[in-house]
Amino acid sequence: MRALRLLAWKSEPELVEVDEPTPGPGQVVVRVGAAGACHSDLHLMHDFEAGAVPWNPPFTLGHENAGWVHALGSGVTGLEVGQPVAVYGPWGCGTCARCQLGIDTYCENPAGAPVPGGGGGLGLDGGMAEYLLVPAARHVVPLPEGLDPVQAAPLTDAGLTPYHAVRRSWGKLPPGSTALVIGVGGLGHVGVQILKATTSARVIAVDTRDEALALARECGADLALRSGEEAVAEIRAATPGGRGADVVLDFVGVDATLRMGAASARTVGDLTIVGIGGGTLPVSYFSVPYEVSIQTTYWGSRPELVEVLDLGARGLVRPKITTFGLDEAVDVYRRLQAGEVAGRAVIVP
Ligand code: NAD
Ligand code: ZN
Repeated sequence: MRALRLLAWKSEPELVEVDEPTPGPGQVVVRVGAAGACHSDLHLMHDFEAGAVPWNPPFTLGHENAGWVHALGSGVTGLEVGQPVAVYGPWGCGTCARCQLGIDTYCENPAGAPVPGGGGGLGLDGGMAEYLLVPAARHVVPLPEGLDPVQAAPLTDAGLTPYHAVRRSWGKLPPGSTALVIGVGGLGHVGVQILKATTSARVIAVDTRDEALALARECGADLALRSGEEAVAEIRAATPGGRGADVVLDFVGVDATLRMGAASARTVGDLTIVGIGGGTLPVSYFSVPYEVSIQTTYWGSRPELVEVLDLGARGLVRPKITTFGLDEAVDVYRRLQAGEVAGRAVIVP
Protein backbone atom coordinates (compact mmCIF):
# COMPACT_ATOMS: atom_id res chain seq x y z
CA MET A 1 0.00 0.00 0.00
CA ARG A 2 1.04 3.66 -0.31
CA ALA A 3 2.07 5.59 2.80
CA LEU A 4 3.28 9.13 3.46
CA ARG A 5 6.38 8.60 5.56
CA LEU A 6 8.72 10.89 7.44
CA LEU A 7 12.07 9.25 6.71
CA ALA A 8 14.36 11.61 8.66
CA TRP A 9 14.22 14.72 10.88
CA LYS A 10 14.47 18.06 9.05
CA SER A 11 12.95 16.69 5.85
CA GLU A 12 9.64 16.59 3.99
CA PRO A 13 7.74 13.30 4.04
CA GLU A 14 7.71 10.99 1.00
CA LEU A 15 5.00 8.85 -0.53
CA VAL A 16 6.40 5.31 -0.59
CA GLU A 17 5.19 1.71 -0.96
CA VAL A 18 5.00 -0.36 2.28
CA ASP A 19 3.47 -3.69 3.31
CA GLU A 20 -0.14 -3.77 4.50
CA PRO A 21 -0.29 -4.36 8.27
CA THR A 22 -1.81 -7.50 9.79
CA PRO A 23 -3.27 -7.43 13.30
CA GLY A 24 -1.60 -9.40 16.12
CA PRO A 25 -3.50 -10.54 19.23
CA GLY A 26 -5.64 -7.73 20.65
CA GLN A 27 -4.89 -5.44 17.70
CA VAL A 28 -7.11 -3.87 15.04
CA VAL A 29 -6.38 -2.81 11.48
CA VAL A 30 -8.43 0.19 10.38
CA ARG A 31 -9.06 1.01 6.70
CA VAL A 32 -8.31 4.72 6.76
CA GLY A 33 -11.24 6.89 5.70
CA ALA A 34 -9.55 10.17 6.53
CA ALA A 35 -6.37 11.50 8.16
CA GLY A 36 -6.07 15.16 9.14
CA ALA A 37 -2.98 17.26 8.38
CA CYS A 38 -1.96 18.88 11.68
CA HIS A 39 0.46 21.75 12.17
CA SER A 40 2.31 19.50 14.64
CA ASP A 41 3.45 17.48 11.60
CA LEU A 42 5.16 20.65 10.35
CA HIS A 43 7.00 20.89 13.67
CA LEU A 44 8.03 17.23 13.18
CA MET A 45 9.35 17.96 9.67
CA HIS A 46 11.06 21.29 10.31
CA ASP A 47 11.73 21.87 14.02
CA PHE A 48 12.43 18.53 15.69
CA GLU A 49 15.74 16.71 15.78
CA ALA A 50 17.09 13.61 17.49
CA GLY A 51 16.60 13.82 21.26
CA ALA A 52 13.60 16.19 21.18
CA VAL A 53 11.18 13.27 21.69
CA PRO A 54 11.84 9.64 22.76
CA TRP A 55 11.38 8.30 19.20
CA ASN A 56 12.74 8.84 15.71
CA PRO A 57 11.77 8.46 12.04
CA PRO A 58 11.02 6.57 9.91
CA PHE A 59 7.27 6.33 10.46
CA THR A 60 4.07 7.09 8.54
CA LEU A 61 2.53 10.49 9.40
CA GLY A 62 -1.08 11.06 10.40
CA HIS A 63 -2.16 11.19 14.07
CA GLU A 64 -5.76 12.32 13.42
CA ASN A 65 -7.56 9.30 11.99
CA ALA A 66 -10.92 7.66 11.36
CA GLY A 67 -12.13 4.91 9.06
CA TRP A 68 -13.64 1.45 9.18
CA VAL A 69 -12.58 -1.71 11.01
CA HIS A 70 -10.76 -3.84 8.42
CA ALA A 71 -9.34 -6.78 10.37
CA LEU A 72 -9.43 -7.93 13.98
CA GLY A 73 -6.62 -9.69 15.83
CA SER A 74 -7.36 -12.73 17.99
CA GLY A 75 -9.18 -11.99 21.22
CA VAL A 76 -10.74 -8.70 20.07
CA THR A 77 -14.44 -8.58 20.87
CA GLY A 78 -17.10 -5.90 20.55
CA LEU A 79 -16.00 -4.63 17.14
CA GLU A 80 -17.15 -5.72 13.69
CA VAL A 81 -15.42 -5.60 10.33
CA GLY A 82 -16.82 -2.64 8.36
CA GLN A 83 -17.83 -0.68 11.44
CA PRO A 84 -16.99 3.08 11.27
CA VAL A 85 -14.54 4.13 13.98
CA ALA A 86 -12.35 6.96 15.16
CA VAL A 87 -8.87 6.27 16.49
CA TYR A 88 -7.90 7.65 19.90
CA GLY A 89 -4.39 8.84 19.06
CA PRO A 90 -2.24 8.85 22.22
CA TRP A 91 -1.24 5.26 22.92
CA GLY A 92 -0.18 4.61 26.52
CA CYS A 93 0.63 1.40 28.41
CA GLY A 94 -3.03 0.65 29.14
CA THR A 95 -2.46 -0.45 32.73
CA CYS A 96 -1.20 2.55 34.77
CA ALA A 97 -3.69 4.64 36.75
CA ARG A 98 -3.87 7.33 34.07
CA CYS A 99 -4.38 4.92 31.15
CA GLN A 100 -7.10 3.10 33.09
CA LEU A 101 -8.96 6.42 33.20
CA GLY A 102 -8.41 6.84 29.45
CA ILE A 103 -5.79 9.55 29.99
CA ASP A 104 -3.13 7.93 27.79
CA THR A 105 -1.65 11.39 27.17
CA TYR A 106 -0.12 11.29 30.62
CA CYS A 107 0.70 7.55 30.81
CA GLU A 108 2.91 6.97 33.83
CA ASN A 109 4.57 3.87 32.45
CA PRO A 110 5.87 5.06 29.07
CA ALA A 111 8.29 2.12 28.88
CA GLY A 112 5.20 -0.14 28.71
CA ALA A 113 3.56 1.83 25.87
CA PRO A 114 3.84 0.83 22.17
CA VAL A 115 6.05 3.92 21.82
CA PRO A 116 6.89 6.20 24.77
CA GLY A 117 4.93 9.45 24.67
CA GLY A 118 3.63 9.01 21.12
CA GLY A 119 1.20 7.04 19.00
CA GLY A 120 0.30 6.40 15.38
CA GLY A 121 1.90 9.16 13.30
CA LEU A 122 4.09 10.11 16.28
CA GLY A 123 6.87 7.52 16.36
CA LEU A 124 4.71 4.64 15.10
CA ASP A 125 3.02 4.35 11.72
CA GLY A 126 0.03 6.69 11.41
CA GLY A 127 -2.99 7.08 9.16
CA MET A 128 -1.62 8.71 6.02
CA ALA A 129 -1.83 5.32 4.31
CA GLU A 130 -4.55 2.98 3.18
CA TYR A 131 -4.47 0.95 6.41
CA LEU A 132 -3.52 1.74 10.02
CA LEU A 133 -2.44 -0.79 12.63
CA VAL A 134 -3.91 0.12 16.04
CA PRO A 135 -1.96 -1.73 18.75
CA ALA A 136 -4.83 -2.10 21.25
CA ALA A 137 -8.56 -2.36 20.57
CA ARG A 138 -9.34 0.16 23.34
CA HIS A 139 -7.92 2.94 21.10
CA VAL A 140 -10.69 2.28 18.55
CA VAL A 141 -13.82 4.30 19.30
CA PRO A 142 -17.04 3.41 17.41
CA LEU A 143 -18.52 6.42 15.60
CA PRO A 144 -21.92 7.60 16.80
CA GLU A 145 -24.80 7.55 14.29
CA GLY A 146 -24.63 10.47 11.86
CA LEU A 147 -20.86 10.97 11.83
CA ASP A 148 -18.74 9.79 8.91
CA PRO A 149 -14.95 9.22 9.02
CA VAL A 150 -14.13 12.43 7.11
CA GLN A 151 -15.97 14.57 9.69
CA ALA A 152 -14.71 12.41 12.56
CA ALA A 153 -10.98 12.42 11.77
CA PRO A 154 -10.32 16.11 12.63
CA LEU A 155 -12.37 15.70 15.80
CA THR A 156 -9.73 13.27 17.15
CA ASP A 157 -7.11 16.06 17.47
CA ALA A 158 -8.28 19.43 16.07
CA GLY A 159 -11.47 18.73 18.08
CA LEU A 160 -10.20 16.76 21.07
CA THR A 161 -7.28 19.07 21.91
CA PRO A 162 -9.33 22.30 22.19
CA TYR A 163 -12.17 20.34 23.82
CA HIS A 164 -9.84 19.21 26.61
CA ALA A 165 -8.45 22.75 26.98
CA VAL A 166 -11.93 24.32 27.12
CA ARG A 167 -13.40 21.62 29.37
CA ARG A 168 -10.76 22.03 32.08
CA SER A 169 -11.66 25.75 32.22
CA TRP A 170 -15.46 25.35 32.19
CA GLY A 171 -15.59 26.56 35.81
CA LYS A 172 -14.18 29.91 34.73
CA LEU A 173 -16.65 30.39 31.87
CA PRO A 174 -20.02 31.21 33.47
CA PRO A 175 -22.52 33.61 31.86
CA GLY A 176 -20.89 37.03 31.58
CA SER A 177 -17.42 35.60 31.02
CA THR A 178 -15.14 36.04 28.01
CA ALA A 179 -12.92 33.51 26.24
CA LEU A 180 -10.09 34.55 23.94
CA VAL A 181 -8.98 32.22 21.14
CA ILE A 182 -5.56 33.01 19.65
CA GLY A 183 -5.01 31.40 16.21
CA VAL A 184 -8.08 30.29 14.25
CA GLY A 185 -6.57 27.46 12.22
CA GLY A 186 -7.32 23.73 12.42
CA LEU A 187 -7.57 23.65 16.21
CA GLY A 188 -8.69 27.22 16.86
CA HIS A 189 -11.76 27.24 14.59
CA VAL A 190 -13.04 24.09 16.29
CA GLY A 191 -12.14 25.68 19.65
CA VAL A 192 -14.46 28.61 18.89
CA GLN A 193 -17.30 26.18 18.08
CA ILE A 194 -16.66 24.17 21.25
CA LEU A 195 -16.77 27.32 23.39
CA LYS A 196 -20.08 28.32 21.77
CA ALA A 197 -21.55 24.82 22.09
CA THR A 198 -20.53 24.11 25.69
CA THR A 199 -20.41 27.52 27.44
CA SER A 200 -22.22 30.85 27.37
CA ALA A 201 -18.97 32.84 27.25
CA ARG A 202 -18.53 35.71 24.84
CA VAL A 203 -15.88 34.51 22.37
CA ILE A 204 -13.18 36.79 20.97
CA ALA A 205 -10.85 35.36 18.31
CA VAL A 206 -7.61 36.78 16.95
CA ASP A 207 -5.51 35.77 13.96
CA THR A 208 -3.07 37.36 11.52
CA ARG A 209 -5.06 36.27 8.41
CA ASP A 210 -8.33 37.79 7.15
CA GLU A 211 -9.66 34.39 6.00
CA ALA A 212 -9.10 33.00 9.49
CA LEU A 213 -11.00 35.95 11.01
CA ALA A 214 -13.87 35.34 8.56
CA LEU A 215 -13.85 31.65 9.57
CA ALA A 216 -13.91 32.67 13.26
CA ARG A 217 -17.08 34.70 12.65
CA GLU A 218 -18.60 31.81 10.67
CA CYS A 219 -17.88 29.56 13.67
CA GLY A 220 -19.74 31.90 16.01
CA ALA A 221 -17.06 34.24 17.40
CA ASP A 222 -18.66 37.40 18.80
CA LEU A 223 -15.64 39.45 17.80
CA ALA A 224 -12.72 38.69 15.47
CA LEU A 225 -9.61 40.89 15.64
CA ARG A 226 -6.20 41.22 14.02
CA SER A 227 -3.55 39.69 16.23
CA GLY A 228 -0.93 41.99 17.72
CA GLU A 229 0.00 44.26 20.60
CA GLU A 230 -2.82 46.67 19.61
CA ALA A 231 -5.39 43.90 20.00
CA VAL A 232 -4.95 43.92 23.80
CA ALA A 233 -6.76 47.27 24.21
CA GLU A 234 -9.57 46.12 21.87
CA ILE A 235 -9.96 42.83 23.74
CA ARG A 236 -10.11 44.61 27.10
CA ALA A 237 -12.54 47.22 25.71
CA ALA A 238 -14.84 44.38 24.64
CA THR A 239 -15.06 43.00 28.20
CA PRO A 240 -17.12 44.60 31.01
CA GLY A 241 -15.10 47.34 32.71
CA GLY A 242 -12.07 46.40 30.62
CA ARG A 243 -11.36 43.49 32.94
CA GLY A 244 -10.03 41.12 30.25
CA ALA A 245 -10.60 37.53 29.18
CA ASP A 246 -11.44 34.94 31.83
CA VAL A 247 -9.87 32.19 29.73
CA VAL A 248 -7.20 32.60 27.06
CA LEU A 249 -6.46 29.68 24.73
CA ASP A 250 -3.26 30.18 22.74
CA PHE A 251 -3.19 27.91 19.68
CA VAL A 252 0.03 29.50 18.41
CA GLY A 253 2.44 29.74 21.34
CA VAL A 254 5.07 32.17 20.04
CA ASP A 255 6.51 35.01 22.18
CA ALA A 256 4.09 37.59 20.72
CA THR A 257 0.92 35.56 21.32
CA LEU A 258 1.94 34.53 24.84
CA ARG A 259 2.59 38.19 25.66
CA MET A 260 -0.74 39.25 24.11
CA GLY A 261 -2.57 36.47 25.95
CA ALA A 262 -1.09 37.36 29.33
CA ALA A 263 -1.81 41.07 28.82
CA SER A 264 -5.44 40.28 27.88
CA ALA A 265 -6.22 37.94 30.79
CA ARG A 266 -8.52 38.82 33.66
CA THR A 267 -7.30 38.40 37.24
CA VAL A 268 -7.85 34.79 38.42
CA GLY A 269 -8.13 33.79 34.75
CA ASP A 270 -6.64 30.84 32.89
CA LEU A 271 -3.95 31.13 30.23
CA THR A 272 -3.66 27.82 28.42
CA ILE A 273 -0.83 27.23 25.98
CA VAL A 274 -1.74 24.68 23.30
CA GLY A 275 0.39 25.86 20.35
CA ILE A 276 3.90 24.48 20.07
CA GLY A 277 5.34 27.72 18.65
CA GLY A 278 8.39 27.56 20.90
CA GLY A 279 7.82 30.94 22.58
CA THR A 280 8.48 31.73 26.21
CA LEU A 281 6.53 33.88 28.67
CA PRO A 282 8.60 35.45 31.43
CA VAL A 283 6.57 35.26 34.63
CA SER A 284 7.27 37.39 37.68
CA TYR A 285 5.14 38.95 40.40
CA PHE A 286 3.82 41.96 38.44
CA SER A 287 4.21 40.58 34.90
CA VAL A 288 0.86 38.77 34.71
CA PRO A 289 -2.52 39.69 36.27
CA TYR A 290 -3.00 38.40 39.84
CA GLU A 291 -3.80 34.70 40.24
CA VAL A 292 -3.75 33.91 36.53
CA SER A 293 -3.10 30.19 36.13
CA ILE A 294 -0.78 29.32 33.28
CA GLN A 295 -0.74 25.82 31.86
CA THR A 296 0.15 23.78 28.83
CA THR A 297 -2.14 21.01 27.60
CA TYR A 298 -1.45 17.93 25.51
CA TRP A 299 -4.27 16.42 23.39
CA GLY A 300 -7.15 14.96 25.47
CA SER A 301 -8.54 11.83 27.11
CA ARG A 302 -10.47 8.94 25.58
CA PRO A 303 -13.70 9.84 27.46
CA GLU A 304 -13.35 13.39 26.14
CA LEU A 305 -13.06 11.97 22.60
CA VAL A 306 -16.39 10.19 23.12
CA GLU A 307 -17.89 13.54 24.19
CA VAL A 308 -16.47 15.53 21.29
CA LEU A 309 -17.67 12.87 18.80
CA ASP A 310 -21.13 13.30 20.28
CA LEU A 311 -20.93 17.07 19.68
CA GLY A 312 -19.92 16.26 16.10
CA ALA A 313 -22.69 13.74 15.51
CA ARG A 314 -25.31 16.22 16.75
CA GLY A 315 -23.98 18.94 14.45
CA LEU A 316 -22.98 21.21 17.35
CA VAL A 317 -19.35 21.10 16.24
CA ARG A 318 -18.50 20.85 12.53
CA PRO A 319 -14.88 21.27 11.46
CA LYS A 320 -14.45 23.11 8.17
CA ILE A 321 -12.77 20.50 5.99
CA THR A 322 -11.08 20.40 2.59
CA THR A 323 -10.19 16.90 1.34
CA PHE A 324 -7.17 15.85 -0.72
CA GLY A 325 -5.73 12.57 -2.03
CA LEU A 326 -2.59 10.92 -0.64
CA ASP A 327 -0.62 12.01 -3.72
CA GLU A 328 -1.38 15.66 -2.82
CA ALA A 329 -0.30 15.31 0.83
CA VAL A 330 3.24 16.73 0.50
CA ASP A 331 1.77 19.81 -1.16
CA VAL A 332 -0.97 20.08 1.47
CA TYR A 333 1.68 20.45 4.17
CA ARG A 334 3.42 23.17 2.12
CA ARG A 335 0.11 25.01 1.90
CA LEU A 336 -0.45 24.62 5.64
CA GLN A 337 3.02 26.07 6.25
CA ALA A 338 2.19 29.01 3.96
CA GLY A 339 -1.07 29.75 5.84
CA GLU A 340 -3.20 28.77 2.83
CA VAL A 341 -5.47 26.24 4.58
CA ALA A 342 -8.85 27.32 5.95
CA GLY A 343 -9.95 25.09 8.81
CA ARG A 344 -8.53 21.56 8.43
CA ALA A 345 -7.04 19.83 5.39
CA VAL A 346 -7.86 16.12 5.46
CA ILE A 347 -6.23 13.37 3.42
CA VAL A 348 -8.59 10.72 2.03
CA PRO A 349 -6.33 7.84 0.95
P1 NAD B 1 -2.84 25.81 11.83
O1 NAD B 1 -1.65 26.12 11.00
O2 NAD B 1 -4.01 25.15 11.19
O3 NAD B 1 -3.38 27.13 12.54
C1 NAD B 1 -2.55 28.09 13.14
C2 NAD B 1 -3.30 29.43 13.06
O4 NAD B 1 -2.58 30.40 13.84
C3 NAD B 1 -3.40 30.00 11.65
O5 NAD B 1 -4.72 30.41 11.38
C4 NAD B 1 -2.44 31.19 11.68
O6 NAD B 1 -2.82 32.22 10.79
C5 NAD B 1 -2.54 31.60 13.12
N1 NAD B 1 -1.42 32.42 13.60
C6 NAD B 1 -0.10 32.30 13.29
N2 NAD B 1 0.61 33.25 13.93
C7 NAD B 1 -0.28 33.98 14.66
C8 NAD B 1 -0.17 35.09 15.55
N3 NAD B 1 1.01 35.67 15.81
N4 NAD B 1 -1.29 35.56 16.13
C9 NAD B 1 -2.50 34.99 15.87
N5 NAD B 1 -2.66 33.94 15.06
C10 NAD B 1 -1.57 33.44 14.45
O7 NAD B 1 -2.30 24.93 13.04
P2 NAD B 1 -3.09 23.85 13.97
O8 NAD B 1 -3.03 22.51 13.32
O9 NAD B 1 -4.38 24.43 14.39
O10 NAD B 1 -2.09 23.78 15.23
C11 NAD B 1 -1.91 24.93 16.04
C12 NAD B 1 -0.77 24.70 17.02
O11 NAD B 1 -1.18 23.74 18.00
C13 NAD B 1 0.51 24.12 16.39
O12 NAD B 1 1.64 24.66 17.07
C14 NAD B 1 0.39 22.64 16.69
O13 NAD B 1 1.63 21.99 16.70
C15 NAD B 1 -0.22 22.70 18.06
N6 NAD B 1 -0.90 21.47 18.52
C16 NAD B 1 -0.83 21.21 19.84
C17 NAD B 1 -1.48 20.12 20.35
C18 NAD B 1 -1.41 19.83 21.82
O14 NAD B 1 -1.85 18.78 22.23
N7 NAD B 1 -0.89 20.74 22.63
C19 NAD B 1 -2.22 19.29 19.50
C20 NAD B 1 -2.30 19.60 18.14
C21 NAD B 1 -1.65 20.71 17.67
ZN1 ZN C 1 -1.93 17.04 16.23
